[in-house]
Amino acid sequence: MDIVGHLINGQLNTSSTRLQDVFNPATGTVTKQVAIAPKATVEEAIACAAAAYPAWRDTPPLKRARVMFKYKELLERNADKITALIGAEHGKICHDAAGELQRGIENVEYACGAPELLKGEFSKNVGPSIDSWSEFQPLGVVAGITPFNFPAMVPLWMFPMAIVCGNTFVLKPSERDPSTAMFIAELLQEAGLPDGVMNVVNGDKEAVDTLLTDGRVKAVSFVGSTPIAEYIYSTASAHGKRCQALGGAKNHAIVMPDADMDNTVNQLLGAAFGSSGERCMALSVAVAVGKEAGDALVAKMADAMTALKVGECSDASNDFGPVITKEHQEKVVGFISSAESQGATVVVDGRDARVTGYEDGFFVGATLIDHVTKDMESYQQEIFGPVLQVVRVDTMEQAMQLINAHEYGNGTCIFTRDGEAARYFSDHIEVGMVGINVPLPVPVAYHSFGGWKRSLFGDLHAYGPDAVRFYTKRKTITQRWPSAGVREGKSFSFPS
Ligand code: NAD
Repeated sequence: MDIVGHLINGQLNTSSTRLQDVFNPATGTVTKQVAIAPKATVEEAIACAAAAYPAWRDTPPLKRARVMFKYKELLERNADKITALIGAEHGKICHDAAGELQRGIENVEYACGAPELLKGEFSKNVGPSIDSWSEFQPLGVVAGITPFNFPAMVPLWMFPMAIVCGNTFVLKPSERDPSTAMFIAELLQEAGLPDGVMNVVNGDKEAVDTLLTDGRVKAVSFVGSTPIAEYIYSTASAHGKRCQALGGAKNHAIVMPDADMDNTVNQLLGAAFGSSGERCMALSVAVAVGKEAGDALVAKMADAMTALKVGECSDASNDFGPVITKEHQEKVVGFISSAESQGATVVVDGRDARVTGYEDGFFVGATLIDHVTKDMESYQQEIFGPVLQVVRVDTMEQAMQLINAHEYGNGTCIFTRDGEAARYFSDHIEVGMVGINVPLPVPVAYHSFGGWKRSLFGDLHAYGPDAVRFYTKRKTITQRWPSAGVREGKSFSFPS
């Protein structure tokens, strides 16, 4: 059986003594094993990244960007292989995997602008014959720890920008679908990146803890669930590292009485069930304002859901695939049952989904639950499955209070035709990414991505302009070349 190993200093290494099964979630079978790096292997990767750093730091930004131009081409040329790798281990449908890759490539395109992004700031004559400038210097070795649900895109949020800013990188991808990250890292070598600048270690907590505590690692970017994000942030910070840790979500859509209900239902279908709801920006709660809007929404959703197709990744006629593991399938089903036992109404029930030919796959069908309330476990926690819950309220103010009171604040959206209501909503909602008639308001690569509250620990968001700040440190230089005419005597006070 194939083993997914590590990429250290340009060499593949499968020598770990611990191995973990990798599943195809559509068939439920083990297809590969992933090597779980011990501390020593992670330390070797860090040492190689540290050794590669001085030369890479001094490589001109234009030359670093040229590697990214070539890399973009290679990602596009290998798109079919990458989407097939995503499908085989994550299970998402080929068209959705292609979309994920495209959003990842957009981060490489942004990174190609490195010479412009790193230009710094200059002020002439801040004093007599004195000039001052700020430049953005790389940090050194930086690390990325990524989740299973975007095996290409989330790593691409991190390493292109980190590398183009002059850092060297150690990536620890999700051990549940490790092949994609390994393959896209290998393509960087083909693009001409020097050995040691990009390294991948597969593994679990042992590998992560080594990255969080090793003094040579200067910064950590993390994306995953909130309890782990909080642990990563506190541990990395306690070890003197810069850290951004993006966590889980519970994204609400407010459906106003004046919303175009057919359009709303179409938008909600993709946003709630696409990628089996395993997106941190999935809309998992619809808050219907008023009885009429609630009744219409539930009736039209239930009707539209009968046409949804769940199945295997390579069949492009499928709308979404399985969830990631058997345990996760059981967890999602458990949330549906708990909502029912706490008094909600399961209107469309996906608990017994069966896909012909894939009877052992980890499938959950699209599920719609009405009359969910805020005290229910299924409302409070992130389900991360193809489940849309409907909460009913009387006013927009009540809908906003619900969202603002939730511990997560990743994404949200309002469906309405009322510009004033939309403006009030975007102004006052306590959430980091807001959509107005846009269900998945994922910022484009030249903005930055991040939630509020317990959806993000740290100050800077992921990718875009914030990534330039995250992966560099500012140095401000003040310079004077005294000439005979401007020599000054000594001074013991600030000039006034
Ligand atoms: P996860 O937290 O289980 O794992 C993420 C990473 O952390 C993996 O690399 C994993 O190996 C590592 N990890 C897991 N347990 C650890 C531990 N005890 N100590 C140290 N490291 C550990 O997340 P997941 O299940 O892979 O991904 C799904 C979660 O990620 C969801 O909560 C989703 O909302 C979130 N997510 C958030 C964003 C965002 O931008 N906010 C984006 C994608 C996914």
